[in-house]
Amino acid sequence: MGTPTPEIGEKMKIVLLGAPGAGKGTQAVKIAEKYNIPHISTGDIFRKNIKEQTPIGVIAKSYIDKGNLVPDDVTIEIVKNRLAEDDCKKGFILDGFPRNVYQAEALLNITELNVVLDIHVPTENLMARLTGRRVCSGCGESYHVTTLEGRNTCARCGENLYQRDDDNEQTVAERLAVYHKQTEPLIEFYKAKALLKTVNGDQDADAVTAEVLNVLERL
Ligand code: ADP
Ligand code: ZN
Repeated sequence: MGTPTPEIGEKMKIVLLGAPGAGKGTQAVKIAEKYNIPHISTGDIFRKNIKEQTPIGVIAKSYIDKGNLVPDDVTIEIVKNRLAEDDCKKGFILDGFPRNVYQAEALLNITELNVVLDIHVPTENLMARLTGRRVCSGCGESYHVTTLEGRNTCARCGENLYQRDDDNEQTVAERLAVYHKQTEPLIEFYKAKALLKTVNGDQDADAVTAEVLNVLERL
């Protein structure tokens, strides 16, 4: 419903945690729409740079194709600059950052946070979710091959769907390994700061959104 009340608006400095394939992007779009705050996805920023063949894009691609993290200095600089923009003053949703303790420590020096949402999906579901994912080239909406029944266009905007280069089995395996080793420790990191809320990501996307909004309304 349009502009949020100041009370809610002030409390919307959000980090989304969760494994690759947990559905962070899908939920981030919904939250950003609902509260009228910017959605900052480091993965999206890197993919845009790759597409436009910028210097950052050239660096990022070599890491992303292998399933590794883009170097911290590059990533932190991008996030720091983005959070300094005016539209982030009242709130934002960070999707895909931080991804290791070093980035989380850096973020402490950049901004306060109100909540860290961990979208939890059992590890054994993640490989199938990611290798079966198809993404809209127009609006970015995600689909899964099991529900597409052979269709190759977006139900929302009609553009073609594609498979992300890093959604192949070998790269996904590496991304999941990186997640368990480097990103999962952030759950304890933010628990210790009393910022962590866990949401069940192993249900349909609308049910996850309902849980997420419920948590945010209670802040
Ligand atoms: P997913 O969460 O499905 O892996 P993302 O779009 O968030 O997808 O990230 C894709 C890739 O972009 C990652 O595998 C990583 O190489 C790079 N990346 C995204 N965010 C970060 C970050 N905070 N630090 C380092 N690399 C990142
Ligand atoms: Zn679309």
